[in-house]
Amino acid sequence: MSNKQGTVFVVSGPSGTGKGTIMEEYFKRYPHDNTFLSISATTRSPRPSDIEGVTYYFKTKEEFEDLIANDGLAEWAEFCGNYYGTPKKPVNDMVAEGKNVVLEIEVQGGCSVMEKFDNAVGIFVLPPSFTELKNRLVSRNTETIDVIESRLSRAREEIQEIDKYEYILINDDLDKAVETFRSILIGESQRVIRNKNIIKEVCEIC
Ligand code: 5GP
Repeated sequence: MSNKQGTVFVVSGPSGTGKGTIMEEYFKRYPHDNTFLSISATTRSPRPSDIEGVTYYFKTKEEFEDLIANDGLAEWAEFCGNYYGTPKKPVNDMVAEGKNVVLEIEVQGGCSVMEKFDNAVGIFVLPPSFTELKNRLVSRNTETIDVIESRLSRAREEIQEIDKYEYILINDDLDKAVETFRSILIGESQRVIRNKNIIKEVCEIC
């Protein structure tokens, strides 16, 4: 898939919907799609599966606040007691180089990115049901009950913002969700607005 203009894809959805798993599987299956995942900074504690610089850049509160003060973040938000933010330079560089960038971020940050970046595309990942969402959060066993309750309450708030996104992706089947996600990327890459240069070249030759 080649695109002259890089596009920002915002992937949001309640904690536990499996956004991360869909993204992980997509990048494993399609490493040559000219699409890259933005790595966020956060103050939350690493989970056993986290790898510094791969899943997140782990920061102290002071380090994160310095990033904000130095205008180093494209967006940031507080989520269930921790800061999360998108480092600005890598995203700007990739978009300028014609690469697609996926930001897997919560809704508040997602909406702010969709306002800032021209033609950013919002994709909202939904669980098959709210009960299933709770089951997933409990069974992954990475948060305390209090944190799970706080994430569920945030999930209810996040779903209220779904109209600000262009697409939904229901994660009831990983394989289907990954392929649907890729279809969205391919469809978006064919839009006239993203291919002005190609259209101009073709028309000059005619
Ligand atoms: P978790 O702690 O489960 O890794 O992430 C909690 C929430 O923060 C998820 O909804 C995740 O998508 C979101 N998140 C991760 N990185 C960022 C970021 O850079 N900015 C914002 N606004 N949210 C983020």
